[in-house]
Amino acid sequence: MVLTVQDQLKELHQVENIPQPYIAVFKNWSAKPFGGGFHFWKPHIKPWEVAKRVRRPKQNENVYICGEAYAASEQTWVEGALKTTELMLQKNFKLEKPEWLSLSYNLD
Ligand SMILES: Cc1cc2nc3c(=O)[nH]c(=O)nc-3n(C[C@H](O)[C@H](O)[C@H](O)COP(=O)(O)OP(=O)(O)OC[C@H]3O[C@@H](n4cnc5c(N)ncnc54)[C@H](O)[C@@H]3O)c2cc1C
Repeated sequence: MVLTVQDQLKELHQVENIPQPYIAVFKNWSAKPFGGGFHFWKPHIKPWEVAKRVRRPKQNENVYICGEAYAASEQTWVEGALKTTELMLQKNFKLEKPEWLSLSYNLD
């Protein structure tokens, strides 16, 4: 897993020396006895605050994150993936809300 990630970073950024991670963990939740897994925010985390920061973790870097796992609400659902993507595009790339989306539809 670490080698694959390093290979992808090398290819994407055209750099040779990728530092070793401090730690790397992999868990296949679809294996027995679990049979599957899904994302949930930790107890006491305020997703409506954290999810905003996650969409662009470093304000001086052009790295953006979206997807179901990072949705403030509707985690685990396609709607969560679409909402985080729409919010990320509107906030960071100044895209207008699509006209077919009702004005009252809450993206947060
Ligand atoms: C069996 C099942 C049934 C479901 N049924 C429903 C349903 O009925 N309704 C509903 O709303 N939701 C359903 N879901 C959930 C829904 O599929 C997900 O919430 C949604 O697909 C998440 O979209 P996403 O873009 O956030 O992530 P994903 O669809 O997981 O997309 C992530 C992408 O990133 C790629 N990727 C990962 N790592 C790398 C890497 N290092 N480099 C490059 N690419 C990488 C992956 O290959 C993948 O294409 C279901 C999920 C499952 C598993």
